[in-house]
Amino acid sequence: MTIHTNPSLLDSIKKSLVALKMARALEVLDATLRRIEQGEIDAIEALDQLLLEEVTLRETRRIKAALMLARLTAIKTLAGFDFAFQPSLDKSRILALAELKFIERAEVLHLLGPPGTGKSHLACALAVEAVKAGRSVYFSTLADIVASLVKAEREGQLRERIRFLARAALLVVDEIGYLPVTPGGGNLFFQLVNARYERGAMILTSNRGFAEWGEIFGDPVLATALLDQLLHHAVVFQIEGSSYRLRGHADLLPEHIRTKANIRPVPIPPTLRRRGRPPKHGGVDHPHG
Ligand code: ADP
Ligand code: MG
Repeated sequence: MTIHTNPSLLDSIKKSLVALKMARALEVLDATLRRIEQGEIDAIEALDQLLLEEVTLRETRRIKAALMLARLTAIKTLAGFDFAFQPSLDKSRILALAELKFIERAEVLHLLGPPGTGKSHLACALAVEAVKAGRSVYFSTLADIVASLVKAEREGQLRERIRFLARAALLVVDEIGYLPVTPGGGNLFFQLVNARYERGAMILTSNRGFAEWGEIFGDPVLATALLDQLLHHAVVFQIEGSSYRLRGHADLLPEHIRTKANIRPVPIPPTLRRRGRPPKHGGVDHPHG
């Protein structure tokens, strides 16, 4: 089949594409028309290809910008996670999270486990899925969130900062427990948690058990109040495995480090039990409806 493209018609199409800011479609127009002329595709397929090129480019750009806004720099994916290395994790349950219903339900996911077991990887991968699905996401460490709240308070901007951090449909708070929270910081973090409570989903990662939160936040009463909200509508994943970073090097490590890299059990303080202890290997402690 040969198409004798009318030059003025072609010119009109190009002008329309420019007016519509369809740069990618404009770029591939000539090549697409050539493929019609050579009988590789028909007109409908050509139209489809042209539009798909434009949609794909825009989607890629949108995701790139949203990942930057979410502060997701080191991109990890669920596809890149080796579940065979971490058998304590239920693969199907993690993959089900990628459907993002937990975001609609404003749930809190806790990823607990020793260093290097993939907590940040999974948190990031789920955050990337949320970004792709068009949800607003913000990823940060607890230390950075607390520092930003402390700074905002000092500058009289606390309300605005909390409003900003409460806005994302998904807030990831990475690395709870690596550093003790600075004095006053725990209170500010509580205000944030309170602002998001039952309104926005969170993913929290920690190498420490809930019983140690009093120590992490420097205040057992505050820790109990925090956990009271963060364990309501919560799903807990306890990773029991060994460090992916140190795989293959275990024999090089001194015994005390090897032992230390294994997590202690994570008992929940008795005061929190009334809301139901999250089942082992996770589970919604408070199903909706
Ligand atoms: P954690 O946050 O639990 O300390 P990370 O998620 O940062 O651990 O994992 C450490 C490194 O190992 C990262 O580069 C991560 O991508 C990688 N990693 C961890 N677990 C896995 C896994 N099961 N499959 C593939 N990569 C993994
Ligand atoms: Mg981590």
